[in-house]
Amino acid sequence: MWRMGRIFVFAIAAQMFVVSATSAQTAARYKIDKVTEGVYLAVPAVPGPNAANIPVIVSDVDVILVGTHFFPADARALVEQVRTVTDKPVRYIVNTHYHASTTAARESFPAGIDVIGHELARRTLLTDRAGKPRAPGSTVAPPTVGMTTRLALYRGDREVRILYVGRGHSDNDVVVLLPKERIICTGDLLVSGLPDMSAGSIADWISTLEALKLQDFETVLPARGAPFKGKPKIDALQSYLRDLLTQATELLNKGMTVEEVARRVDLTSHAKNFPQITGAGVDVNAVKQLQTEIEPPPPPWEAQ
Ligand SMILES: [Zn+2]
Repeated sequence: MWRMGRIFVFAIAAQMFVVSATSAQTAARYKIDKVTEGVYLAVPAVPGPNAANIPVIVSDVDVILVGTHFFPADARALVEQVRTVTDKPVRYIVNTHYHASTTAARESFPAGIDVIGHELARRTLLTDRAGKPRAPGSTVAPPTVGMTTRLALYRGDREVRILYVGRGHSDNDVVVLLPKERIICTGDLLVSGLPDMSAGSIADWISTLEALKLQDFETVLPARGAPFKGKPKIDALQSYLRDLLTQATELLNKGMTVEEVARRVDLTSHAKNFPQITGAGVDVNAVKQLQTEIEPPPPPWEAQ
């Protein structure tokens, strides 16, 4: 009896440990840093392609999360964590672009939350490149509120502007501007280091960044890396993209393979702005994407 009792107590203790370890794990998924009154940046404990910074905007009535590669399970965890900084409910998630892995299958964002995103993001999440409908639940939840160029939310004295300024990291990047606070949330369009260039348009990205510079902001909350101030980083990225475009186009036009071009392009002169550059060579996927812009692939109905 005593033995059984001891085993029972041990079992309860073990279960309690599992429960507390699980909640600790959930609690540790993000670190919520205050940016200014009512604006926070949720920084993932383990950053990765599908774990980006999520700006959290608190208004008089509700909360808006700005998500990039934002998985429903992470959204649920963050909705819980947001309760530690405000008693207002999360009402909107802004999907800054459609990117998501299919491993999010059949998961949806928490109930009662509308997802705001570009209409192209919705279309891409619902149909494949050939225009065929995707199987139900095969991607993350598509936007439930669609937009094309701009949408404004007015919440008490807080204004939240959601803007499409052009193609870049994808063909449906939107940014979120808080005009009064002069804060902009840039998703993957502008990050603190070099962004992923394997989709979207490198040529258009340069002019899109020019359009972004016309907005009035001081603080940038990017999806990757630490927040930063001002616009010099935009100039640096434009300069990098211009050099990449020039060098890679020239080499591709000489008939070199994508792999050769990726090895030969030398952007080490930009290492002072992007310390992750340690030698010649660029991401082969960026060159692959560039090649599709120079020689667009045949339309899906001809490729079949
Ligand atoms: Zn992305």
